[in-house]
Amino acid sequence: MRKPIIAGNWKMHKTRDEALQFIYNINQNVPSSEFVESVVCAPAPILRDLVKRQGDSLRIGAQNMHYLDTGAYTGEVSAPLLENIGVEYVVIGHSERRAYYNETDTDVNKKVHQAFNYNLVPIVCCGESLELRESGQTDQFVKGQVEAALKGLSKEQVSSLVLAYEPIWAIGTGRTATSEMANDTIKGIRSVVKGLFGEVVSEAVRIQYGGSVKPANIDELLSMSDIDGALVGGASLDSESFLALVNAAVKK
Ligand code: PGA
Repeated sequence: MRKPIIAGNWKMHKTRDEALQFIYNINQNVPSSEFVESVVCAPAPILRDLVKRQGDSLRIGAQNMHYLDTGAYTGEVSAPLLENIGVEYVVIGHSERRAYYNETDTDVNKKVHQAFNYNLVPIVCCGESLELRESGQTDQFVKGQVEAALKGLSKEQVSSLVLAYEPIWAIGTGRTATSEMANDTIKGIRSVVKGLFGEVVSEAVRIQYGGSVKPANIDELLSMSDIDGALVGGASLDSESFLALVNAAVKK
């Protein structure tokens, strides 16, 4: 049994005051982590504030980090710093980072290794463009991203990380992949993991869907065999909506 995981990806939204209000609104109502892992991935400057107030059932994640421990990298955040302030998850290889900051598959792989060096659970993103989807290259493209991201990891590490399948054309567009489409691609990802690391690992690894997930479509997505949760942008910003998403996952 794979425990569902809902992760909010706030991107470049919320001030500190707004973030604290959100935590205040949800703290008493986040379902027990026995049933669902609830994670909020927030902008770096407010991570420490959120960690201090996260309550028993909410976990805090970063949205990115560098793959080196220290160095002359202006504006970057290191994994040792994230671990040091109590952050437990980190989103790696989001399509926006790949598109706007030129992150490559090689960078993604280095970051995944670095996350494990500092006890952070990587939420590793993959997903195709509309062009690739329409030309029938989705499975092949996503396979390449997943193989590259997981290169050199142990079976134990792969079992414990989270993959997030996010078709780029569904992110922030209101256009969700149908649940069958999402499930089919996620099944394909699971079989790539099986080919590389074996069946036990492929049955253990959790694979989220992401792209315009909201309270109105989460039930259907989570009813699919291979979708273990969601990585959610827009609909994670509002506390009521975030709670609706994590509560939906309890039922899975
Ligand atoms: P969205 O973003 O839910 O706003 O589509 C998802 C994501 O980018 O993780």
